[in-house]
Formats: sequence, C-alpha cells, structure tokens
Amino acid sequence: MDRQQQFVLRTLEERDIRFVRLWFTDVLGYLKSVAVAPAELEGAFSEGIGFDGSAVEGYARVYESDMIAKPDPSTFQVLPWETEEGKVYSARMFCDITMPDGSPSWADPRHVLRRVMGEAASMGFTCYVHPEIEFFLMKDLPSDGSAPEPADQGGFFDQASHDVAPHFRRRAIETLEAMGISVEFSHHEGAPGQQEIDLRYADALTMADNIMSFRYVVKEVAITQGVKASFMPKPFPDHPGSAMHTHFSLFEGETNAFYDPDDEYQMSATGKAFLAGVLKHAAEITAVSCQWVNSYKRLVIGEEAPTTASWGQANRSALIRVPNYSPGKSSSQRMEFRLPDSACNPYLMFAVVIAAGLRGIREGYELPAPAEDDVWSLSETERRALGYVRLPASLESALAVMERSEFVPEALGEHVFDFFLRNKRAEFEAYRRQVTPFELKRYLSL
Ligand code: GLU
Ligand code: MG
Ligand code: MG
Repeated sequence: MDRQQQFVLRTLEERDIRFVRLWFTDVLGYLKSVAVAPAELEGAFSEGIGFDGSAVEGYARVYESDMIAKPDPSTFQVLPWETEEGKVYSARMFCDITMPDGSPSWADPRHVLRRVMGEAASMGFTCYVHPEIEFFLMKDLPSDGSAPEPADQGGFFDQASHDVAPHFRRRAIETLEAMGISVEFSHHEGAPGQQEIDLRYADALTMADNIMSFRYVVKEVAITQGVKASFMPKPFPDHPGSAMHTHFSLFEGETNAFYDPDDEYQMSATGKAFLAGVLKHAAEITAVSCQWVNSYKRLVIGEEAPTTASWGQANRSALIRVPNYSPGKSSSQRMEFRLPDSACNPYLMFAVVIAAGLRGIREGYELPAPAEDDVWSLSETERRALGYVRLPASLESALAVMERSEFVPEALGEHVFDFFLRNKRAEFEAYRRQVTPFELKRYLSL
C-alpha cells in the first residue's frame, strides 16, 4: 500500500468515519456513487470494487458489463455536511474505472481526460483551468413541466441581505473550502435567482473532480437553505442561461506557456496556436460543451452567450476572450472559453478543448484576426465576410457537425464518441416528437 492509501485508512480510523462513498461519472456527466464500509477499503485499493457497468449510461455493452471501480486516494475528502451529533461520518473518493483485466475503461470520462492530459504532458505541458459556474436557486424544482419560481429577485452583483442568496453563497463556499476546493469569487448573476461561483485554478483533472463535487455540494447546501439549485442551461426564456465559462492555460514547469510580454495581447505563439485550435474545432466540440436540447436556448444573440467562432479581448460576444493582462502577473495569462454551459460533462469538455488546442500547437494553426466589434450587432453577411463561422444552433446540428469530425473521435475515443452520438440523437428525436404550446398557439388556427 502506498503512503496516500495509508493516509486514507488512518484518517478513517482516527475520525471514526463509517461510510466511504466511491464516486465516478457516467458519459452524460451524472455523478454515481457506491458506499463501502472502511473495512472494505484495503481490498478496494488493491483489487477495486466490482459493479455492473451495463446499468450505467455509456459504460458497457452487455457482453462486457463487469467493471471495476478503483478509488484514487489523492481525491480523498470528508463530506463536511454529513454529520451526526457534530461529527462527520462519511468521506468520498473519485474512482478510475477499469475492465476486469485491469485495463482502463474507454467509457470512463476521467480516463478520457487523463489520456488528453498525457498527450499534453508528452509535449511538455500541464493544463490549468478555472471555471466560472453559473446556476439558479429556485423555490422548488417542479417535475411536471411547470415553470419554476426563482428564489430571489436580485440582479447582477446585487447584495440583498434579506435574500437567501448571500447566506447560501457563504455556506456553499465554507463547505467547498472545507473539502479543499478554493473559491475565488462569487456574486449574484444577471437573472433572478441566478448565482455565480468561480473556483480557483487547478490542473484539469482535479478541476473536473471539483466541478462534480461542486454541483453536489451546491444542491445539498441549497436544501439546507430551503431552496433548490438547478444547473439547467436555460430555465427561463426571458433571462440569460447558466454558462460555465472556463479559463485555460498551459504551463511548462513554473512558466506560463501562453505569456509573451512583447506581444500586443501578451499572448505567446504557443498560446495563439492553442486558441486557433479551439476556434477551428469549435463547431465540432459544441455538442460536448452544450450537450442538451435545452443548451441551445442559451446560445442566442444578445444574452452574453457566443453564437459564432470568434475571439477578442474585451469582447463578450466572442467565443474566446483573452482577458486583459494584469501587469506583473505573467502566470495569469490565459484564454476564456465562453461556450460551455453548467450542465456539461466537465471531463469530456476539458478533454475536447485541450485536445483541440494541442492540435493547434502541433499543426501550427494560424490565429485569425480578433473580433473587436460586437459580433451580435453585425448582419449575417458582415459576419461571413469577417470569416466568423456560425456555431451550431441546435443539438441536432451540433451532432451533425460532430459526426463528420475526424478530430472528435480521436479526442474522446471511439467508444465515447459512438455512445454520445447515439444517446444524443435519441434525445433530440424525443424532443422533435413534442408538440409544444408555442406550436399550438401559433398554428392551431391554420
Ligand atoms: N449567463 C451568460 C451566458 O449564458 C454569461 C454571463 C457572463 O458573461 O458572465 O453565457
Ligand atoms: Mg457570469
Ligand atoms: Mg466570464
């Protein structure tokens, strides 16, 4: 047993923790959990815990359904809200999923991201990310299709102490920090009930784990405040949706490989090629960044969400933003990818973005000129003349672009690529069969 594994076993004993939750994520980004008694853990570290993969979305074909979950001791954390008489009684670890022969499961999103990070490492890079996570607090989450009611009527940066929001944010941040997830910034977002919490940067795999924990913590804390949290991309037709803008940078050892003091944007040739890669493959990776039918309701003109593959510095209509450089902080040079929503699978989204950027570097892609005007105010013809490629406007068109891609199956692996397309096509087909109130209102009198 290695030192980390020993540390986990010792902590369990010292703190008298009775349940260890083994967490992993399915291809669609749902968190899965198996609880084991501490006594089982030594075995779990050496052999893993077997489970029936055919019951988990995307994991297995029926003839190879036995899967093994192997806890990663570096992700061990107690769950600070699971207490009895003031004492914490449970902890969690993320797992890597393997086949019975010990080889990694191609369906494990964590493995997909590990593979891309390995590719970055072979080029000398570590990838750091930090997300700005937007979500809603609602009074309740009705399951009958009726409209939810936001938990407050606040707006951008509002501080209303009588509302649930500031108390909720303080509690959520305390809980996250207690789990080793550092929060950089939090505020009320533009829509009623909408919150944003920005996490402090970490390497991409740690951050994907952190985002899964974040969603869980936020939902738990919301319940303690008498409200419900939703990461649905666009719950209200007349308010902006919930984005998960993500900042990416590459480091070579201690040095930010995106930084060049002599460049107009302080962006190095490596950084520019990375941006060019993400821009060029943006349409192909839209389905992974925005994976639900509802995601595309967010991507509309005028609500600070991107609709074309463009980049800029201050420009909030652009797909990629290079935030203004803060003098003396060479380490903070980065790009902000504004496409993903808060309901994407973070492992797969990071994997395709990083893989696209690395491809840009390897193949020396040229970065097009920045879009310094407001992309939303241009006509379709002007946009085309400036070379801005329109991003897919529905799940169906995003899937069609993804399906033709030779890049995405390489980044995700064939298994995840095929499963994702199949599953998402079925989702779109189910949606397409609906006759909506919009149609009845508009067409019944025909
Ligand atoms: N909520 C906006 C979106 O869905 C983003 C707002 C912001 O710029 O932070 O894209
Ligand atoms: Mg925001
Ligand atoms: Mg942002």
